[in-house]
Amino acid sequence: MSDEETGLIEKYVEKHKIGFPIARLGSGEFEKAIGVTGFPTSALIDPRGKLVWTGHPAMADGKIGDALKGSKKTPLLPAALADVEKLLDKKQFGAAHGALAQLKDGGKLAQADAAAAQALLDYIEKRSEALHRQIADGITAEDFFGAWRAMNQLATGFVPMPGATEAVAKVEEWKQDPAMMAEVDAGEKLAEAAELEDEGEFEAAYKIYKAIVKKHKDTKGAARAAAKARELDEGAKRKIDKSCGECRQLGRACVRHSKG
Ligand SMILES: [Zn+2]
Repeated sequence: MSDEETGLIEKYVEKHKIGFPIARLGSGEFEKAIGVTGFPTSALIDPRGKLVWTGHPAMADGKIGDALKGSKKTPLLPAALADVEKLLDKKQFGAAHGALAQLKDGGKLAQADAAAAQALLDYIEKRSEALHRQIADGITAEDFFGAWRAMNQLATGFVPMPGATEAVAKVEEWKQDPAMMAEVDAGEKLAEAAELEDEGEFEAAYKIYKAIVKKHKDTKGAARAAAKARELDEGAKRKIDKSCGECRQLGRACVRHSKG
């Protein structure tokens, strides 16, 4: 749910590749119905459609557990694939892949179950390929944090599939390389700052860019952070409002005036 303009929501959905539906808030009836008192608000709705809880997402942890205690988990996969489902629940995609291949080659699966097994095999393989691509693309684009995240996912969840063992070796290799780990750390903070910029939190993003430059001298991430800070500096100076005390004190546009 969002109360932003449709165009802005669409841009956000596109950029963050959000796959779940988003509704635009209208007259306030909905907020009243679920009891929204501020933003962000989370609402927990049970499988029967009953509103179980409303509140700040940070307070949701225990509530979700409590609500789950009262509900029964329905298996998503056919009974013949129950062991595979357990592995998938634990994000052990490599082990699930092995178990599925074995079941399929055993030839004892009913036709519908074999089709489900094949679909899962395809899904796991596609997911693994996508992670391999993310590593290669990340390194090419000097997005070392993105590459690091993908290789860790492969290393922890996809062994013994082809390529996953190489990912384990690569994780170890990067861990031994302080320059690489500096790039990963700088990249993680760059991603954090970019998110803040998206939310219009320019001051906070600016502080992170400056911290990256200071902490990780001579990294590609620091060069990128310096460029980003410069961009904000120039943009913010252009937008300074001389009648605003905060702008004057900062020597550049404050959060309010550096927007838009
Ligand atoms: Zn201002």
